[in-house]
Amino acid sequence: MPTPKKSRQETEELLILRALNLRMKLSDKDRRKYYALEKGYQGEVMFDVLTEGLKNNCIVLNGLLFKLKEKHFQIDTIIIFQKTIYLIDVKNFEGDFIYKSDPDRFCKNDTEIDDPILQLFRSESKLRQLLDEYRFNLMVESYVVHINPTFTLYNAPQNNHVTLPTQINRFIRKLENIPSNLNGGHERLADLLISLDQGDYPNAPKPAYSYEELKKGPYCSKCHSFSVSVGERKMVCNTCGCEERLESVVRRFVRELILLFPERQITTSEVYEWCGCAVPRKTIGRVLKQNYKVMSSGKWTYYV
Ligand SMILES: [Zn+2]
Repeated sequence: MPTPKKSRQETEELLILRALNLRMKLSDKDRRKYYALEKGYQGEVMFDVLTEGLKNNCIVLNGLLFKLKEKHFQIDTIIIFQKTIYLIDVKNFEGDFIYKSDPDRFCKNDTEIDDPILQLFRSESKLRQLLDEYRFNLMVESYVVHINPTFTLYNAPQNNHVTLPTQINRFIRKLENIPSNLNGGHERLADLLISLDQGDYPNAPKPAYSYEELKKGPYCSKCHSFSVSVGERKMVCNTCGCEERLESVVRRFVRELILLFPERQITTSEVYEWCGCAVPRKTIGRVLKQNYKVMSSGKWTYYV
């Protein structure tokens, strides 16, 4: 207990930036954006490992994006207990920050970050409105969890809604000691929240890129090295030694091609070229036939 009722997934924005970062030189601004998203996601995944270990009766929902009055708000983790819903925002900031007030913010060299608790309290208020709308009457409590062990915040005012890296174990124990018996109403609430999830921010900004300028070829799923050896049945990474079945390699790069170029038609030749002409055409053809619907236009066969 508990496996999350809703598991976390990378946003499309992160997946696109991750792929582009490997296949082209991103601008400084886009690269910073990419690293921030990647780091945030890794922090959330670290926190998920902790909530998966909770032994009491609760429902965990990870990575939700809601919409209220045409405005989106995102919540990293929701944990439903019998009487209370916990909203948790996970931050993976690294290094030494100084807390400054008016407005409340974290400062490091020339970087300033708004105190994340402010944003979280705004999300809490919106979630309350949403719950009111559907006549769910539970208490809501919000916490920011700073997951990175190297994070230090000087001059921080005492705030029971903020969990610093040295307090995380205590915070998890506190969650675990909440007496909780769930019933069908809690399940319905969880299902409602999942049904209200918007998935990805619509129209997240993307860097400009074109098919021609992107580096082609398969890369390792673990260490992202392009130095790989493709055999009959598997691909082996020359950098980390990781092995992946060729079918899985093809599926991974078909997904990447669709993600980056949703308007392009997926053909065997197209995927062959995307994989740097390194994966046999017949393997690509077979995987496409098995996993995608065949469409035909004139003399071309393509897949959706
Ligand atoms: Zn590797």
